[in-house]
Amino acid sequence: MESLDALVSLAKRRGFIYQGSEIYGGLAGTWDYGPLGVALKKNIENLWWKRFVSDREDMYGMDAAILMHPKVWESSGHVSGFSDPLVECEKCKRRFRADHIEDTEKCPECGGRLGEARQFNMMFKTSVGAMEDSASTVYLRPETAGGMFVNFKNVIDSFHPKLPFGLAQIGKAFRNEITPRDFIFRVRELEQMEIEYFVRPESWKEHFDFFLKEQHDFLADVGLSKEKLHIVDVPEADRAHYSKHSVDTEFDFPFGQKELLGLAYRTDFDLKSHSEGSGTELSYFDEETKERFVPHVIEPTFGLGRLMLAVLSDAYCEDELGGEKRVYLAFKPAVAPVKVAVFPLLKNKPELVAKAREVYGALKKEFGAVVFDDNGNIGKRYRRQDEIGTPWCVTIDFDTLGEGGDAVLNTVTVRDRDTGEQKRVAINELAAMFKVALSA
Ligand code: ATP
Repeated sequence: MESLDALVSLAKRRGFIYQGSEIYGGLAGTWDYGPLGVALKKNIENLWWKRFVSDREDMYGMDAAILMHPKVWESSGHVSGFSDPLVECEKCKRRFRADHIEDTEKCPECGGRLGEARQFNMMFKTSVGAMEDSASTVYLRPETAGGMFVNFKNVIDSFHPKLPFGLAQIGKAFRNEITPRDFIFRVRELEQMEIEYFVRPESWKEHFDFFLKEQHDFLADVGLSKEKLHIVDVPEADRAHYSKHSVDTEFDFPFGQKELLGLAYRTDFDLKSHSEGSGTELSYFDEETKERFVPHVIEPTFGLGRLMLAVLSDAYCEDELGGEKRVYLAFKPAVAPVKVAVFPLLKNKPELVAKAREVYGALKKEFGAVVFDDNGNIGKRYRRQDEIGTPWCVTIDFDTLGEGGDAVLNTVTVRDRDTGEQKRVAINELAAMFKVALSA
């Protein structure tokens, strides 16, 4: 797709994503997911959890607290180093990220002079308890990783996993971005799907390569076009302070090729720093070799919102069908928020409605994400489903009741979203047909 505007407006109109606090004028860098946005997000999360956690024997799921002891972020280096260079215009007072603008001396908005760049820490602060002083300051976590490192010992003590093993979690993180922008690409409240995978130091590269491939296999699970993905080695100067080797996967967003997700070799930086900071030894004892050492970490990290934006923009299509222009979202069926829509041809024919309700009930029980729609003519109903990316529409007509010219009792019309083609299918074959297509 060419520009983001059409997608932003579709996402709002159809209930995927709304501006955060919109009726109060919005709060920059925040977005609210509506019913279809939540459904899309959950489908992506579930595919991720299945591939990276439940289908494996070596992964342990986590859901750590967002508020953590402030020393966590001192040890991790975020208090001293999680910052971006900020410049402020002396005339209009607007602020910019110095590494995101071409001319660091001239304001891109008003042409005024920009001041000296200074480091701006991106962590949000709040305070715990009734007293607001420096002793009560805590941070909203800037990445989910911290919650996993501080639970490394707990999981070892409860489960005695053998190396290599990983901790995985999906959760919110907060970054006070200087300039949130590009819809849900750069936000202040984000969601991450992260893994900290603990390995023997000498085997880091093998696991790093494995996870790079897994990341791309997962992107195929959610249906992203391969040709829009780019693997980029991150040069040392751009790497996070904890990383010795990083590979980002970038995606062709409507506003250019930008980071979608990352993979980092965090070495033993975090376990060592948290051992020192907390005074609790975070190490691993190998029962076979009888050695104790600090494992190294491979971290595959995914921004859930960014991934949703990639999925939405990749799926956005405009074409002409039956002489009419239309917009549709060509989601892979596995991520589509609604899998099937069921229509009675006419809403004032009780026999049609009753049969359609029966088919709807059976499919809903099987697939959950099934809707019933009897509002407006069939063409309009198709357009509505196209816009939300429903792969199949099922229409119950007079043939279904055995009353058509060439009666084909108990068959329905199944219409394909992408081609608009329709075919007759027996009601008792519908579920099996959709099941096969959904697992493709
Ligand atoms: P960027 O360079 O775009 O600021 P980053 O390199 O700081 O991102 P990481 O710290 O590696 O990002 O975070 C892991 C993932 O979290 C990113 O690949 C991205 O998908 C997501 N992410 C990071 N910051 C944001 C944000 N402000 N809004 C949305 N997603 C984000």
